[in-house]
Amino acid sequence: MATNGKIGVTTENIFPVIKQFLYSDHEIFLRELVANAVDATQKVKALASSGDFKGELGDTSVRIELDEKKKVLRVIDRGIGMTAEEVDKYINQIAFSSAGEFLEKYKDQIGSIIGHFGLGFYSAFMVAKKVTIESLSWKEGAEAVKWTCDGSPEYKMEPCKKDDRGTVITLHLDDDSKEYAEKSRIEGLLDKYCKFMPVPILFGKEQEWKDGKYVDTDKDKVINSIEPIWTKAPSDLKDEDYKSFYRALYPMHEEPLFWIHLNVDYPFNLTGILYFPKLKDRMAIEKNKIQLYCNQMFVTDHVDNIVPDFLTLLHGVIDSPDIPLNVSRSYLQSDSNVKKISTYITKKVADRLEEIFREDRKSLEEKWDNLKLFIEYGMLSDEKFCERALSFALLKNTDGKFFSLEEYRKAIESAQTDKDKKVVYLYATDVENQFSFIEAAKNKGYDVLLMDCELDAHYVGLLEQKIENARFARVDSDAVDNLIPQSDKIKFEMTEAERYDLENLFKAVLHEGNDYYVTGENLGADAAPVLITQNEFMRRYRDMSALGGGMNFYGSMPESYNISVNMENPLIGKILDAKAAGVAPQGELPPEAGKDASEDEKKAAQEARDAVRKAHKADIEAFAKDNDLLHQVIDLALLAKGMLKGKALSDFIARSQKVVSDAFLK
Ligand code: ADP
Repeated sequence: MATNGKIGVTTENIFPVIKQFLYSDHEIFLRELVANAVDATQKVKALASSGDFKGELGDTSVRIELDEKKKVLRVIDRGIGMTAEEVDKYINQIAFSSAGEFLEKYKDQIGSIIGHFGLGFYSAFMVAKKVTIESLSWKEGAEAVKWTCDGSPEYKMEPCKKDDRGTVITLHLDDDSKEYAEKSRIEGLLDKYCKFMPVPILFGKEQEWKDGKYVDTDKDKVINSIEPIWTKAPSDLKDEDYKSFYRALYPMHEEPLFWIHLNVDYPFNLTGILYFPKLKDRMAIEKNKIQLYCNQMFVTDHVDNIVPDFLTLLHGVIDSPDIPLNVSRSYLQSDSNVKKISTYITKKVADRLEEIFREDRKSLEEKWDNLKLFIEYGMLSDEKFCERALSFALLKNTDGKFFSLEEYRKAIESAQTDKDKKVVYLYATDVENQFSFIEAAKNKGYDVLLMDCELDAHYVGLLEQKIENARFARVDSDAVDNLIPQSDKIKFEMTEAERYDLENLFKAVLHEGNDYYVTGENLGADAAPVLITQNEFMRRYRDMSALGGGMNFYGSMPESYNISVNMENPLIGKILDAKAAGVAPQGELPPEAGKDASEDEKKAAQEARDAVRKAHKADIEAFAKDNDLLHQVIDLALLAKGMLKGKALSDFIARSQKVVSDAFLK
């Protein structure tokens, strides 16, 4: 007897609402239907193995059929099937009423959660104008039932003829969902969502090459692998298995560096394999490469709220039925299971790295350049990971030698401790550009680290906090003698007038736009006449603000440089002698205005004094402009710092050619 009924949903027009809400994620209907089919299949298998079901299991594959012309899609399983009562209970009452509740509850955020949570069977109505269920239960003496619903809240149930146990869901695709009547679209969806489902899923036929083209054979095509390697025991797997699984997941990627097999069943269930990818171009980091599965059913590749941010740099799969999918993304982070899972994964990653550090140091060193960014990011962003990583993070020096943090400290402690008992870690960010500074430091018996990673500006600051009594200084942040001072710096004695002249002399020939601090220093007769350095902290703040460290104030300031003029160098002596001979000393300044002077008088007196200073400054500038030696020593210093460019460089070359000709041809 056929029955008609009304689905237990209060909202009359629930279907249009659903369609509209779920607009962006229509495609998940297929995953939902196949997942139901797989569930039903596994249930019947379980009944068979427990002895409750005594019949023939037969072929238990799930089959997808598509009639491209009629625009009909079928999902067919040989699972437990449903009796009429069950259809009534699970489909008419539960499925539909819970869909109604669901909508009511999540009206506002449905767009953000639907990627995670399907509406089960109900989602078929996102793409179909009419859906039928034909089902024959496994139970003895069961009668087949057919359920039909055309998208209005009314359905029809009637007996039907069906010999095979299981369920056939038929979707008559609606006009705006024609794309799902294309074979390639369905293939794509099955590959995305069902690739690793635990029951064979058949769609189309295997093909073979015949008479110059591919043709279908009689053999059904299985689109999934029912035992992906993360479900197997690590002891049963070889390196090659992990590598080939990686290739299958990411065909365009280079071989991974390392991998971790996750496997835990208490206090939550989680399996998976995470890979450390080879980061080819550090700037082109790909996040969202981890795929999240729930019992081998693909859920999402956006795991950003499930694993700590730095772990999203990893690739691979995580499979867990314990990650709640029917909640909004912002809620995920506060879920206690998700927190536990996140902590567990972080710990496993640290364990694995530590193991490699202990047992395969060589390979860690070989791969360090590719791993470094990941580890530094982890240390900067995750306190717990940082504590662990301090024991296996490596430092690399400019000679390409690796050290653990502990080893490095031991290696440099005796030579690189300053007067305040701080161990000074010297580093370079660019071996080419900072070459002369690196050489100077090495000649003094110091070691220089290489810190050329994008995050190093922040990382150096982190290490300074984590390593006791340590200070980091870039190798070009000061003259080599001042990098690790053993005693208080002895200031070079100068009168105020001498200092003023020196400053203006050098500023006159330096590029405008930067800030310069000119000082006279004793750097030794053999050392360069001029040294340009950049204050460690000013530079670091700038670097960090460039990286988006929230210190924009520093980013907008002009670059500032220290110009150390080596008063012991004879060339400087020569320049200063020439200046003394060519520039008259600043004349006596007119007196300041008296206390009782009027405003006008004060202003006039000030202007008279300024005029004398200005005239003197102009004299110095005129002298500086024509002094080749001054230009030459400054250019040499700029060159050593990699700052001589463009016209300044070509002027330098021309001047140098003249100097060389004069020296060798006369
Ligand atoms: P969920 O799968 O989340 O429970 P659904 O709306 O997808 O919600 O399905 C409701 C119920 O209908 C299922 O729990 C199951 O009992 C039953 N069902 C759905 N599809 C099938 C099927 N192919 N075979 C047997 N039972 C099914």
